[in-house]
Amino acid sequence: MKTLIKDLPTAVLDTFSSQLRGNIVLPGDPAYDQERKVYNGMIDKHPGMIVKCVDVADVIASVNFGRENNLLVAVRGGGHNGGGLGLCDDGLVVDLSGLKFIRVNVAQKTVRVGGGNLWGEVDHATHPFGLAVPAGIISTTGVGGLTLGGGVGHLSRKYGLTIDNLLEADMVLADGRFVTVSASEYKDLFWAIRGGGGNYGIVTSFKFQAHDVKTVYGGPTLWPIEKTEEIMDWYHKFINSAPDELNGFIATMVIPGAPFPEHLHKKQFCGIVWCYTGDME
Ligand SMILES: Cc1cc2nc3c(=O)[nH]c(=O)nc-3n(C[C@H](O)[C@H](O)[C@H](O)COP(=O)(O)OP(=O)(O)OC[C@H]3O[C@@H](n4cnc5c(N)ncnc54)[C@H](O)[C@@H]3O)c2cc1C
Repeated sequence: MKTLIKDLPTAVLDTFSSQLRGNIVLPGDPAYDQERKVYNGMIDKHPGMIVKCVDVADVIASVNFGRENNLLVAVRGGGHNGGGLGLCDDGLVVDLSGLKFIRVNVAQKTVRVGGGNLWGEVDHATHPFGLAVPAGIISTTGVGGLTLGGGVGHLSRKYGLTIDNLLEADMVLADGRFVTVSASEYKDLFWAIRGGGGNYGIVTSFKFQAHDVKTVYGGPTLWPIEKTEEIMDWYHKFINSAPDELNGFIATMVIPGAPFPEHLHKKQFCGIVWCYTGDME
């Protein structure tokens, strides 16, 4: 049985609060309902406490607080997980959305990214230098969950999965220790986090290999939903012989609204969202 946060003595909560730079959000606070929202609107969990971490020290304090007080702990990166794994009911949510920083090393073509960054922020930071890291296709997905789950997207055919481009990670482990894992340090843990999800510790920063990608040619092509089977069959044959610079993400979709033309709004389509990174000619 886990301890409920509401049953903890006030002195324990006060001590924890004094160790943090970031804010604590509790049930009943004006921000609570907004802070417990995640991307999937069907998830409706009620954490006992959300800690808005702003640095590694906040993460270490939160992990120690959770372990020492026998709390259920969830870790939220970008909050995109379909099942709402970044939240829990009654327990402690370690929210990394304030743990954001990006530094591009242009000479080495590497990027250092905070554990709470979103992929659109990484793209924005690397783009002026003509660099990109293989990631997902939606810019609001979190770097944390996508990377730890593998990460596949438009650049994967040419440059691999996101985890193929992970060089190093800073992590807070369940016992509160801080370690840096890579191909040469804590090799087994480095292996485990490249696809093992968020179960091995909290990653506070990632270091990625970037690649020469600047201008891309892309966008969706749409067909009537009835043609889905035909288009999928065609795509399957086509993509196997297409150059690695080209990728298509096939999906059935309802066109939401702008920027698509009005006559398409709210209608169902089979679509392929393309991205081409090769020569523009
Ligand atoms: C609209 C949409 C588009 C998507 N597109 C793609 C795609 O193109 N390619 C692809 O590969 N995936 C895609 N995904 C799946 C996505 O990668 C996963 O849902 C991923 O878990 C989201 O990560 P997050 O950090 O945003 O989520 P969260 O819900 O915050 O976290 C997901 C899991 O990762 C853990 N976690 C997050 N950050 C950390 C961290 N820093 N340290 C330790 N654990 C952490 C959490 O505890 C949780 O278990 C998409 C999802 C959505 C909703």
